[in-house]
Amino acid sequence: MAIERSLILLKPDCLGGNHAGEVIGRFEKAGFEIRAAKLIALTDELLKEHYAHIADRPFFPEIVEFMQSLPVIVMTLQGHSAVERVREIVGVTDPAEADEGTIRKQFGTDVMRNVVHASDSVENAEAEIERFFG
Ligand code: ADP
Repeated sequence: MAIERSLILLKPDCLGGNHAGEVIGRFEKAGFEIRAAKLIALTDELLKEHYAHIADRPFFPEIVEFMQSLPVIVMTLQGHSAVERVREIVGVTDPAEADEGTIRKQFGTDVMRNVVHASDSVENAEAEIERFFG
């Protein structure tokens, strides 16, 4: 098992719902180490880069509005197979379809308000960490 890093965003519904402590606790209990963290306001430019793969979808403007409705916490987690294991803890995109016990199942509202972003590959994790932390 390789030591990897994953880029996490605690989305506005996470902070707005006062779930940040519990969500971060899930990652800590799973053995991941927080290597960087900060509270930021997402700019249009950052969102266009981060969500380039969905920027042409009809719901993208709604995502921008949601992601800018409050600041987000951006953090890196490090640990064994971090990318895949963090995605397992977070659950699939739509909270309604996520497994019991996952973060999105417990705290998510709908397919957009799903609490957390987590990198989906090692390659994307490194690009996202560079984007947010330089
Ligand atoms: P994931 O975050 O699980 O990797 P995607 O990269 O496909 O999922 O989508 C990025 C984000 O865009 C999702 O986390 C969610 O907030 C939002 N999103 C995805 N699909 C939809 C949709 N059909 N309607 C509204 N928002 C969506």
